[in-house]
Amino acid sequence: MRTSRAQCILNKVLQSAIFFETPEEILQRVFRECKPRTPVPAVRLKFCKFANANSSVRWDASGLEFRITDVLEGAPSAILESLAHILMAKLLRRPSPRTHAERYRRYLNRKEMRRSLQLVKQTRGRKFVSGPQGNAYDLEAIFEEINLAHFHGLMARPLLGWSRRASRVLLGHYDPSHNAIIVSRLLDRPAVPRLAVEYILFHEMLHLRFPVEHRGARRCVHTREFKTAERQFPRLKEAQQLLKAICS
Ligand SMILES: [Zn+2]
Repeated sequence: MRTSRAQCILNKVLQSAIFFETPEEILQRVFRECKPRTPVPAVRLKFCKFANANSSVRWDASGLEFRITDVLEGAPSAILESLAHILMAKLLRRPSPRTHAERYRRYLNRKEMRRSLQLVKQTRGRKFVSGPQGNAYDLEAIFEEINLAHFHGLMARPLLGWSRRASRVLLGHYDPSHNAIIVSRLLDRPAVPRLAVEYILFHEMLHLRFPVEHRGARRCVHTREFKTAERQFPRLKEAQQLLKAICS
């Protein structure tokens, strides 16, 4: 007997209806695979507006709760399955199954995924706890002075702020995804000479002026042009010694 084309399509539809799983059912199945002898607890799944690809799972008396970034809402079931395996492995303190880890990583690395992640980081990341006005120094005023002295006043002002923590390791950084310069709160004290803040800000402004260069797989952050420009800073040695003393 010959199967008609319509019959064929109908079979396909029926098949996919049988194999269709809701995201919750996928999570339950993964749980069964990881802990075959334990009755499957109630499973809740929440897609959350995180600022990154963080996802987590919690297991308590009320059941399992998966919190997954909403960037993955609508991802193929295979990806959700792989992520569930990774999260369960973490929960059970087992090594991540390699095939799942690989598949998940490859998916996140796709161009459009990288782009969505960059976008949510930009719009959701709460970088700033402060504006440019600190307790001792106003970064905006210092920025404009340096701008005039070294950049003909032509540099567009990025967001300027003080870090939440008084980091000794990272005294300043330029964050291109927020177009922001953040200076360590460690330097926002009257005991710290203004020269130290000026130099850090100048250094970060040079990062705006000379973007990171990619040479094959290598990233060059402080290019030759960058270093030449940095040497133009008056009292450079003095400023660097000050920072060394502050950090030690
Ligand atoms: Zn640098």
